[in-house]
Amino acid sequence: MERHDWILTLQDSIAKARRRGHIVGFVPTMGYLHRGHMSLVARARDECGFVVASIFVNPLQFGPQEDLRSYPRDLERDASMLAEAGVDAIFSPGVEDMYPQGFATHVNVKGLSDTLCGQSRPGHFRGVATVVTKLFNLVRPDRAYFGQKDAQQLLIIRRLAADLNSGVQVMACPTVREEDGLAMSSRNSYLNPAERQAAPLLYRTLCAAEAAIAAGETRPTELEAMMGQMLGSHPLVRPDYVRVADADTLQQSASVHGRLLLAAAAYVGRARLIDNLALHVTPSGPTRILL
Ligand code: AMP
Repeated sequence: MERHDWILTLQDSIAKARRRGHIVGFVPTMGYLHRGHMSLVARARDECGFVVASIFVNPLQFGPQEDLRSYPRDLERDASMLAEAGVDAIFSPGVEDMYPQGFATHVNVKGLSDTLCGQSRPGHFRGVATVVTKLFNLVRPDRAYFGQKDAQQLLIIRRLAADLNSGVQVMACPTVREEDGLAMSSRNSYLNPAERQAAPLLYRTLCAAEAAIAAGETRPTELEAMMGQMLGSHPLVRPDYVRVADADTLQQSASVHGRLLLAAAAYVGRARLIDNLALHVTPSGPTRILL
């Protein structure tokens, strides 16, 4: 197919679905799909008459020292999983399709991009915001589905969708976990057996903070100290950050009350893993929420 024919073909099939009155749902991914991704697809399939999924390992969101080259890929397996799940259209653009020579425009969501993972991965969210804006413009979905596992990304995309009048409804989907609590991630494939055993400490740390809140802890700094100590207690886990944040602004929370995001990131071997719990905290205790 000629370079841009696939875009026309894709847009034509979406336009036809829309003319038939279908809601268009979109699930953007970087591939190497797991049950977390597939839960987004299932939700989109439930709610939308026409479902589009993309697979694109976006170079713009990787730092120079990060794992762009080694990021796991298996396009054939991904495509058959998506077809099996009843996705109507799949596309996997090349880097030269997304960023042809002369490409010069970036999208930057201030504030939300500057904390948490934005501090350890400078430029990461600019890359994410730019590619998602392009994907939204290509697909023009009614709804797009994102995992709460990447809570900061979810909030940034919701912000850009509103700020740029994209008309896309950004839907949050719960984090899918392994039996021992580890959040599913394509990067879990980097872990050797010992590291894989250590990795659930991330989730256990968040659960311990949630339990401390339920037991009456009201000081964010105490919670963060406890989380830092717990996450740093395993020789194979190197904490990047722990944070008790306001779930809407992602700034460090001044109190343990209202909508909170307990967030943590750590290196386990060469994998940088992230996880979070979104809570609504009232005097009767914390309740888990979707953002
Ligand atoms: P990625 O391929 O890592 O860019 O992820 C694509 C989408 O899947 C993003 O919206 C992620 O938040 C979502 N996702 C990744 N892992 C999980 C998970 N364990 N549970 C739910 N959603 C996830």
